Amino acid sequence: MAGTRKPVVEVRRSQRRRRTVSAYRDGERVVVLIPDQFSRAEESEWVDRMLARLAAREGRLARSDDELLARANRLIDLYLAGYATKAVPASVRWVTNQNGRWGSCTPADRSIRISHRVQEMPEWVIDYVLLHELAHLIVPSHNARFWALVGRYPKAERARGYLEGVAAASSCAPLPT
Ligand SMILES: [Zn+2]
Repeated sequence: MAGTRKPVVEVRRSQRRRRTVSAYRDGERVVVLIPDQFSRAEESEWVDRMLARLAAREGRLARSDDELLARANRLIDLYLAGYATKAVPASVRWVTNQNGRWGSCTPADRSIRISHRVQEMPEWVIDYVLLHELAHLIVPSHNARFWALVGRYPKAERARGYLEGVAAASSCAPLPT
């Protein structure tokens, strides 16, 4: 977290925008998109508001790594109980730098990373993405044994359909790994 340091803000005005304002982080900068008709006062008010919103969002992200680990432990109990020692990750984190994939896992150091884009999805989809990565700690490749493990989760197929739908809806997101 940047703490109290104010980020570099780039304001972009768009004639196509009427009332909507949005903001996103682009490296060290924060880009704020506002309607072209906004006054300077409105611009400054909205920049402050969007920076606060972004900080709140990132705060939630940081706090919820613990929730993610608790979620992983619950999934191991429910679906991977026989593999408890093998399936337990050393770390589970939400990450914002994983735009191409929903989740990833490094069996060598038993770390799991889940994309922040999954955070906005329904609980049962988050569970699927997480269980998928936990199963990779037991079976690294996508073979029949792997899919049998993942298939213990009752909504596995439904969740894959959901993720494929999201991937199809956005132009460059590939299928879950
Ligand atoms: Zn996979």
